[in-house]
Order: sequence, then C-alpha cells, then structure tokens
Amino acid sequence: MPALRSNSRSILVGGPPRGGVCHWLSQPRYRVHVCSTAAVSVRSTAARRALSAAQWCLRDPETGTVLALWSGGDWQPTSRPARARLARLSASPARDLAESLRRALGIQPSNPALRALPRTDEARSLRLAGGDRYGRPLLLDARAARAFKRMCAAARLDGVVLEVVSGFRGLHHQAGIFRRKLARGQTLDEILRVNAPPGYSEHHSGRALDLSCPDEPPAEESFETTAAFAWLGEHAARFGFVMSYPRNNPHGIAYEPWHWCWHPPRQLR
Ligand SMILES: [Zn+2]
Repeated sequence: MPALRSNSRSILVGGPPRGGVCHWLSQPRYRVHVCSTAAVSVRSTAARRALSAAQWCLRDPETGTVLALWSGGDWQPTSRPARARLARLSASPARDLAESLRRALGIQPSNPALRALPRTDEARSLRLAGGDRYGRPLLLDARAARAFKRMCAAARLDGVVLEVVSGFRGLHHQAGIFRRKLARGQTLDEILRVNAPPGYSEHHSGRALDLSCPDEPPAEESFETTAAFAWLGEHAARFGFVMSYPRNNPHGIAYEPWHWCWHPPRQLR
C-alpha cells in the first residue's frame, strides 16, 4: 500500500481505484477523498496544469483543495501546507463527522427536523457522469449515473433537454450551505425547512439530482410549469427516479419539484 510520509508517521491512503470504474472514493478513516483528476475542477491555470499531468488526486473534503497527486506510483503532496494538512487529517479521524458538523451549526440531536428525515451516509464511491449546467464535474452513484444517462437520452428523443444543477454533495458542502445562510441572518428553523442538515441530505448518497432545463432558473418552484417537469412526472419512475419532496411531504421539507432521487429496483435492494 503506498504511503505518504510526513515527519513523524506514514499516512496510509492506499493506491488509486483500479480500472477507472470509480472516480471518487471516500476515505473516512483518513478524511480525504480520492478523485480522478477529471472529476475535480480548479480555478488557477497552474493548478489545472498540475492536475492534467496526474490521473488521481487526494482532495480535502472540507475546502476542496487538492492535497496530493498520484504520480510515479506514489502520492506527492502538492505543497508543504498540503502535506501538513494531510498529516492533521490523518491524525484526527472523525468518529461521526455528520454529528460534529451538526453540533457546530447548533443543530441538537433532539431537533424535530432530524426525526422527520432518514439518515443518509456519504457515498463511498462515485462515478463521473459528465458535467452539470455550470460545467462542473457531475459525480453520481454508478447505478444512478447509468439510469440518469438512459433517462436523458429518452427525454431528448421527446424533445426535452434536462440540465443538472447539482448531483453529489458531501457532508462539508451541506454544512457550508447552512453556514452561508446563517451568516446572511436566516434562522436554523428557516434553513431546516428548505435544507436537510448534514447527514440527512439525499445528495450525500450520489443518487439525488437537482434538475432544471434551459432558460429556467435553478431550484425554483416555476420548474413545475415546464415541459421538462411534465415529462419527468410521466416518465421518471420508469428509470427509477422519484420526486422526493412533493407538496406537503411527511419530511417537513418545502416543495422541491426539481429534486429527484434514484432508487434501486426492488429486486436489487
Ligand atoms: Zn436537491
């Protein structure tokens, strides 16, 4: 198993996934993500150049920073601070990251919003399923990705274009949504009416998608008036996709006509 050396210890993270079937792996023990470089978007040209020379990278799930690249059969930290960060991450494995993120946001275990929602773990492996409408890599559970591809092709035959606003979102991403809304002055109760807390979002599973269509804003109720929404209502179930939050849903989440989740066929469950 390849080791990443820090001053005092080896940080074992394993090699990249074999066969290129999966493009994203969660390493809960070390709290890093292993991603194919194709599944990572970076802003700076220098970082893009470095990424293009490697096939795999280790990514900080909290900040999205690329910490190490796989080259020449070993992990190479991208910088001195990245090496230090890897050492810190491996030294403090989170026992229950979702719980600690919720506590940091002030969401107590007794909060009634938690009772109405099923817990959802972060996916352990994901597949690159093209890009979203903003050109960012779209990561999905492998089976959901296949079903979504088939559904998009069928929709196109009927003249309907489906665009993806958001696919997989990790625990840290969900916590970030809460932090930004709290900073804007919204209360926890207000946020919990429209966002599932970390550890409860279907987006953690890599099976949920926020959908839209050309010229339609993201995540707006007006999506329900589009031909794309009508098409989904008629055909999505055939591909295993279900609208999770219809009006007056038992989860206490506001109506989300854009949010669709793939569920395995009964015989696979
Ligand atoms: Zn959603």
